[in-house]
Amino acid sequence: MGEQSKTKSKTTDTVHSPLLTYFSMISLLTLCPPFVILLWYTMTHAHGSVLNTFTYLNNNGLQGFINIWPKPSATACKIIAVYAAFEAALQLLLPGNTVHGPISPAGNRPVYKANGVAAYLLTLLTYLALWWFGIFNPTIVYDHLGEIYSALIFGSFVFCIFLYIKGHLAPSSTDSGSSGNIIIDFYWGMELYPRIGKHFDIKVFTNCRFGMMSWAVLALTYCIKQYEENGKVADSMLVSTTLMLVYVTKFFIWEAGYWNTMDIAHDRAGFYICWGCLVWVPSVYTSPGMYLVNHPVTLGTQLVLFILVAGILCIYINYDCDRQRQEFRRTNGKCLVWGRAPSKIEATYTTSTGETKRSLLLTSGWWGLARHFHYVPEILSAFFWTVPALFHHFLPYFYVIFLTILLFDRAKRDDDRCRSKYGKYWKLYCDKVPYRIIPGVY
Ligand code: NDP
Repeated sequence: MGEQSKTKSKTTDTVHSPLLTYFSMISLLTLCPPFVILLWYTMTHAHGSVLNTFTYLNNNGLQGFINIWPKPSATACKIIAVYAAFEAALQLLLPGNTVHGPISPAGNRPVYKANGVAAYLLTLLTYLALWWFGIFNPTIVYDHLGEIYSALIFGSFVFCIFLYIKGHLAPSSTDSGSSGNIIIDFYWGMELYPRIGKHFDIKVFTNCRFGMMSWAVLALTYCIKQYEENGKVADSMLVSTTLMLVYVTKFFIWEAGYWNTMDIAHDRAGFYICWGCLVWVPSVYTSPGMYLVNHPVTLGTQLVLFILVAGILCIYINYDCDRQRQEFRRTNGKCLVWGRAPSKIEATYTTSTGETKRSLLLTSGWWGLARHFHYVPEILSAFFWTVPALFHHFLPYFYVIFLTILLFDRAKRDDDRCRSKYGKYWKLYCDKVPYRIIPGVY
């Protein structure tokens, strides 16, 4: 970390009200792990039908549920350990440009090595080569998926305890501190930029190199599984996988930009973000592909092309929203937005160490349509890689619904945070751009 200030920042405020924080934490802790297992079970053993799983649970009760919860087997642990070690090695060893993150609330400026694209390409090439040369068959991953999720659920929980202890005993920077409440510290995290040594950034690992990378790896796994089972890949699987891979490729091309977003620059490394990236992303985010493995629908060329073009367009617009904001900030407003000089608000704010800083808010382009318009194409992209599943079952759409709730909540959280950061300048932005997400509607 660069430019560290001397005082420790405290997390005295919760993002939501304390009641909601406790409620969401207890819900996440107790409901998410069984949900991940039930999702996997329903997709792989109950034909994707929630009704089938419900009937099974109704007939067999708690013992029936315990029976379907796979043990974290040695094979599963080995797969996770090799994958995690491989990704950690790539993160540390591959060359990359030095990139500076945004100035933190305590006035620090984290330094990163931007080698995400190389790590992404090398991961996918290695995985495909292992399969092609008969060294490792990805269907093993699919066949042990339940055990892998089970191991991830427990392993990630232990990892979050490690983060909590590290945050207390050996924080990596002054962007850390306790709220004085053990539950909030565990849930929201203690450190903004935890590192092992000087260079190994834990959030880059959990969010990008483990979580997002696993999405692409599992999307390929589902495709290969269907190919090995049926001797061909259905066009529904092909279009869904292609869109997911385009999305994850976009993510890694833009990874340094991601280091400027809420996940990295504002949310501390705790259960909420790290458990989510280590368990929820590999399971829930990849679930449309998991469903398609055993449901090879043929869509036909016209429909496939329509879904493909619409999905890529949404992914591109989402990318362009992020790019526009970051280009505007990087050039200090000296760029063109939709072919014109940008309209902007010059805002000031005070860091937790009392320094006054200046920042710019873009009020034209995508950011003039609504304050979080970029969530619209994000949600639509997810819809387009899910719709190849057609409408026989509800469960493949769980991710789209979850994402919609997550992003509407996130927009509110971000608005609240920006309001308290920028005060009257944020109010000015809200007056100029009154809609939060959907222009003219919300
Ligand atoms: P960002 O962090 O990119 O954008 C919000 C931040 O940008 C604000 O906190 C503020 O930070 C700054 N900002 C807000 N308004 C303006 C403006 N008008 N001009 C300049 N800066 C502004 O948002 P997200 O992290 O939510 O999203 C990043 C990407 O990740 C998006 O593409 C989103 O769709 C995607 N995403 C995907 C999720 C998924 O699960 N699939 C979940 C969440 C996000 P500052 O303090 O710097 O002013």
